[in-house]
Amino acid sequence: MDDRELWLSFVAVHGADGAVYAFRDVTGERRLDEEKRDFVATISHELRTPMAAIYGAAETLRRRSTSLTRGNREQLVDMIATQATRLSHITDEVLLTTKLDRGELRVGQEAVDVGDLVQATVNAVRGQLPTSTRISLDIDRRGGAASGDRDRIQQVLFNLIENAAKYGGGAPIRVEVKRANGVVRIVVADSGPGISLADQERICEKFYRADPQLRNAPGGTGLGLYISRQLVERMGGRLHVSSDVGAGATFVVELPGAEALGSLPEDPGGSSHARPSERLVGPRREP
Ligand code: ADP
Repeated sequence: MDDRELWLSFVAVHGADGAVYAFRDVTGERRLDEEKRDFVATISHELRTPMAAIYGAAETLRRRSTSLTRGNREQLVDMIATQATRLSHITDEVLLTTKLDRGELRVGQEAVDVGDLVQATVNAVRGQLPTSTRISLDIDRRGGAASGDRDRIQQVLFNLIENAAKYGGGAPIRVEVKRANGVVRIVVADSGPGISLADQERICEKFYRADPQLRNAPGGTGLGLYISRQLVERMGGRLHVSSDVGAGATFVVELPGAEALGSLPEDPGGSSHARPSERLVGPRREP
């Protein structure tokens, strides 16, 4: 028996000859209810901040446009653009999650030069992070290609690096590509505050966020790692996390080497999971 939590409903019907008890497993229904509640709470909370900022900036532009300097106006327009991007990002995450859950997402399987991809992604991410965020790169060029979907691997990587920057407290980020036993491994590690064991087990759940109540916690939907795990598994891979509180977090994406192509089952639209996981984590933006 594993540690699964079960929710049961009991109904007793009393008759002349005694009572009949009916037991029903309502775990699935309860999980669905929880997901709906989390969805509404997270989305309304996450939408409110950018929407209020856009509304405030637009109102200021409308009412006080003549008294604003050109610099003020540009600042307000920039803010509207940034917050609108945030809104579309949240919508992308929700849409992608829905597609994944419905098995409607096609994930390609082709030979991908992960070394080149990681190099290009890190260069692109560097431009989006504060200049003080340092990212070191260690790529084993003898690693060969992995089997997977180029855009989706990049999406996962973006999510992991963005998280390392967001939650890593500004500490340097290490990105590595290695190969061992036919598996291509991408490592994204930070030396920030880390993740407790209890949270490691849950951070890949839909909407789960560690310490969302902390006043300084950066915003987020809690969908990034759920999406990442799903995508990696649909490519026949795994996503693990390991961490010691206070000593940073290490996320590892394992993808089958490209020689596995042909031996992998076809992904019929997103439902071919590789292996189940205990502490697998797993990206994000819908094109
Ligand atoms: P989001 O960033 O939108 O909250 P994610 O699914 O990407 O969603 O991450 C889930 C949670 O995992 C985050 O809210 C954060 O608490 C935790 N987390 C993710 N990456 C790290 C990291 N590198 N260090 C510490 N905590 C992390």
